Amino acid sequence: MTITPKNLYMVLLDAFGHQHWWPIDRKYHQRQHSDPRFEIIIGAILTQNTAWTNVEKVLENLKKQNTFTIHTMTHVEEKNLKTMIQPSGFFNQKGQRLKFFASYLEKKYNGDLQMFFSRDTSEIRHELLSLSGIGPETADSILLYAGNHPIFVVDAYTRRICHRFPFHVASDSYDDIQQFFENELSSTLPEKELIPTYKEFHALLVELAKQYCGKKKPSCSTCPLNRLCEKLL
Ligand code: SF4
Repeated sequence: MTITPKNLYMVLLDAFGHQHWWPIDRKYHQRQHSDPRFEIIIGAILTQNTAWTNVEKVLENLKKQNTFTIHTMTHVEEKNLKTMIQPSGFFNQKGQRLKFFASYLEKKYNGDLQMFFSRDTSEIRHELLSLSGIGPETADSILLYAGNHPIFVVDAYTRRICHRFPFHVASDSYDDIQQFFENELSSTLPEKELIPTYKEFHALLVELAKQYCGKKKPSCSTCPLNRLCEKLL
């Protein structure tokens, strides 16, 4: 079997099933009439350099303290915020980033995420990348999962997968890897399937890493990709 991004996706989907990303507490937002997209933004910033299980603890703290909206995040005392987000590590830095991002949205977009996301993908991406502490992976996670924009998220696992399969990626850079997956998938999938596929694909790669490839000692013998993988570890 020649391995392409599309059939890699199919194998992963078959092995792990739908991941239903991004994980958000919809019931909470229905009760509170809050915007779930801000939870995704918070999660995308907090998950930098830490495991998702740590982020989950912070999200619970923020919920308990009603600091889950752009407005409350803008006005929360920095000291309280840092205590709440301590489990995610780098809490000084992340606290400043969250507060800065929330107050930026409040001032520039009146706290209206619909207004923020209702623009051209490249324009929003450019703006996100200009903000403190928002790199390409965080910006693209926000665009794809919160903004529903068609953009492929690249992380360390995507990069590793590119080394394991005979993909013709121009270089190891974030942009080249992203371009490769987007070109391959957009040439083989109908346009309406792109956003759901980008969402699912990234989540499946994270699951592959969690269960097999991202461990200190990868579990190649039981990995669903082991007959396709070029460089077993
Ligand atoms: S077979 Fe091994 S190296 Fe290849 S994807 Fe699976 S765990 Fe990673």
